Amino acid sequence: MEGTKAQFIDLATCPACAGQRIRRYKKGTYAGRLTQDEIKITDSQYGRVWDLSLCLDCGHIFANPCPSPDFIFSLYGEVCDPEYEEEAAGRSRNFLPILESLERVIPERGALFDVGAATGILLDLARSRGWEPDGIEPSSWAVKTAAEKYGLALRHGPFETACLKGNAYAAVLMVDFIEHTPLPHEAVVRAQRILRPAGILVLVTPDIRSPAARIAGRRWWHLRPAHLAFFSRASLQALLSRAGFTIIEERRYAWTFSAHYLLSRKRLTRVLLKNSAMSSFFKRIPIKLALGDSFEIYARKDRNG
Ligand SMILES: [Zn+2]
Repeated sequence: MEGTKAQFIDLATCPACAGQRIRRYKKGTYAGRLTQDEIKITDSQYGRVWDLSLCLDCGHIFANPCPSPDFIFSLYGEVCDPEYEEEAAGRSRNFLPILESLERVIPERGALFDVGAATGILLDLARSRGWEPDGIEPSSWAVKTAAEKYGLALRHGPFETACLKGNAYAAVLMVDFIEHTPLPHEAVVRAQRILRPAGILVLVTPDIRSPAARIAGRRWWHLRPAHLAFFSRASLQALLSRAGFTIIEERRYAWTFSAHYLLSRKRLTRVLLKNSAMSSFFKRIPIKLALGDSFEIYARKDRNG
């Protein structure tokens, strides 16, 4: 992206728990300046991370120095990722278990807000199940796609600074969002404000200490420069309780991909997929990766902030 230069902020406190016992955790393997391609959801170059710090109080691991919020917001504003939408059926399949779990926790359906709604695949599914869909997305391309493809009027911009009505939503969803924002505390506080009393926040985010992450080592697919933070169970607890939430249910998340998507992660098989018949065949085969390497957390709003 031309024009907007990356700026970095040295963090002296933990973004999750506000603790001050911070230690250098790992030297980064990424020295770029973050481009649009690298923050796409479908980015396939793994193993690259920023210089990481560790919070000794809650175990949170985070980019430090961290790219500035302004820089991150403007970068996401310009993302264009048609490959993401091509996998719409598979992605919808991924979101179904989340909504089913949410509906067990909160039986009466109402207004549901998706943070970082991308092209609206989750909201389209939620609407078909009786929820009133609302959401926000920084990418102009994604907002336009959501309107054209699903007839959804997404709010446009970063959630962390959006002006939204308080006490208005039964549920707020942050699926693979919290690890991308330089302002996780502000985001969760905002979610707390817009939820009605006893409303539910759903959070899905990678677990760097999961067995899958340990086995994959430097090739773990969540090690990418778009991820500014890696939460632990304790740092999620700290982040949520600090903002007025109680965790009421948690699961391990297993993503489903099409065979096409998985094969296209490998350079060799990308050549094979250039054949269009082969390509559409593989797009129809779902493969469940039962890695369980993400947290899936359901937290209830406890008090008005
Ligand atoms: Zn901490």
